[in-house]
Amino acid sequence: MCGIIGYTGKKDAATVLMGGLKRLEYRGYDSAGLAIVRNGSITSSKEPGKLQVLANELKHCPLKGNTGIGHSRWATHGIPNKINAHPHLSSSGKIAVVHNGIIENHQHLKRELLREGHAFVSDTDTEIIPNLIAKFYRGDLLEAVRRSVGLLR
Ligand code: GLU
Repeated sequence: MCGIIGYTGKKDAATVLMGGLKRLEYRGYDSAGLAIVRNGSITSSKEPGKLQVLANELKHCPLKGNTGIGHSRWATHGIPNKINAHPHLSSSGKIAVVHNGIIENHQHLKRELLREGHAFVSDTDTEIIPNLIAKFYRGDLLEAVRRSVGLLR
């Protein structure tokens, strides 16, 4: 398992998150990514390989904002590539999630979400989480997260 970091405050979130991921590098990883929220919209950037690849990408296309999450991945479900790298977004684009570990019942949950109209782009187990949260979200994020986590094994 690799690294997770979150930040909210007054600083540039991408700078803080990249610094945190750098400190977690010793744990090993195969890809890394960030999601930053600004003016109510989420933007994300992710790359396979070393953090420096992501840092170079951020130089060309900076993510601006003061709140975000960062992740370094050690793939268990899906090869290490850009699409499977975290963060993962709900198909609505409104919920972004990073996760370390394995969701053993992800196939069952994914089938249900597909039937309900949620779309998936990656091969990861993780991508069901933002879609579950989006499904349960009715204005109370904590409650939607609680209901979602209650279904995960
Ligand atoms: N199971 C997730 C994946 O394959 C998380 C891997 C990790 O712990 O970094 O994307």
